[in-house]
Amino acid sequence: MKIVLRNLTKTFPGRKKKSREDVTAVKDFNFEIPDGELVGLLGPSGCGKSTTLNLICGLENPTQGQIFFGEDEVTNLAPEHRGVGMVFQNYALYPHLTVKQNILFPLQNRKGKDRLSKEEMEKRMKEAARLVQIDALLDRKPGELSGGQQQRVAIARALVKMPRVLLLDEPLSNLDARLRLQTREEIRKIQRATGITTVFVTHDQEEAMSISDRIVVMKEGVIQQTGRPQEVYDDPANLFVAKFLGTPPINVLEGYVKDEKVWLAGRPVLSARGIPAQEVLVGIRPEGFLLREDGPLACRMERVEVMGRDISIVASQEACREGGIRAIISAESAVDPHASSVRFAVKPAKAFLFEKDSQERIRARLQTEE
Ligand code: ADP
Ligand code: MG
Repeated sequence: MKIVLRNLTKTFPGRKKKSREDVTAVKDFNFEIPDGELVGLLGPSGCGKSTTLNLICGLENPTQGQIFFGEDEVTNLAPEHRGVGMVFQNYALYPHLTVKQNILFPLQNRKGKDRLSKEEMEKRMKEAARLVQIDALLDRKPGELSGGQQQRVAIARALVKMPRVLLLDEPLSNLDARLRLQTREEIRKIQRATGITTVFVTHDQEEAMSISDRIVVMKEGVIQQTGRPQEVYDDPANLFVAKFLGTPPINVLEGYVKDEKVWLAGRPVLSARGIPAQEVLVGIRPEGFLLREDGPLACRMERVEVMGRDISIVASQEACREGGIRAIISAESAVDPHASSVRFAVKPAKAFLFEKDSQERIRARLQTEE
């Protein structure tokens, strides 16, 4: 079931007594989620992710705009008639009910033509429990389960309704690091197996990148960029997106373009054919540095961190005001950790130019300086 969001806006009125201003949590959202895909909604806390999800499931009504599931407009439809399954960060299970009763719950309240036979309910409950691998825990209460198991029950409870759309709001945030990894892979598997169109909200870029067919990067209620995770990483639309994706984060240096070259710290580092002279911000991914004795970018060596497969070189450079430069290079490289300086060349595909004021991307075909 494809989901279409058209000119979707949600403004929360400020409280008059406290003379607070209105908050526009979602601004003029236009986006189409293709049938059967898993879309990751990504952005910092407060950027409007949960509000977007609540609009899709009907817990909130939009101030403006429309929502379609396939060809059906659902903008003003009550949540229970939309056919959505929702999973929250805090599981929200009924503590006094067993796992089995929790999963059955959404089916037991059905009225009229939606009513199911007891056998049908049992069958669906077992199928959902099997999908999330909790079929051995059906008689336990939530208090007797780990966080990861509780979240599986919550997912089973969403799946048992056979929803047209599955919505997950930071479902892994309460889990410890290992369980988070494991559970996200399972969510991905379940999504593939069922083919349910899914929206997955997270502030964790790695999480979104690793499981999404497509990501939507948001800032202050506005879509910044959408695309396949790798496309967005390799071709960010602005500095915000470039900085939000990738660990360690992209390095940002102040430089300028002159004579169709990118200059950093007074040296030409890359060529930028056709780009007019101007001050720019240069983003360089940590993996975008090459150790070169005659490299154009000279830095002061701060320290070398061994990470097993890779080495991380932390260096300082006057062009880089925000902390130091962090370069990730292969552990096979010969680095002298006691050297006082280090020189780099820059891989053109790993460097991006941004306008200094607007921080929008300057699309340039960067090349190695000859
Ligand atoms: P996220 O999920 O990305 O952290 P939210 O969608 O929860 O962000 O919130 C987006 C913005 O809308 C925030 O500034 C938040 O304070 C505001 N907001 C969310 N819900 C309400 C509400 N019910 N009333 C007023 N403001 C709200
Ligand atoms: Mg939220």
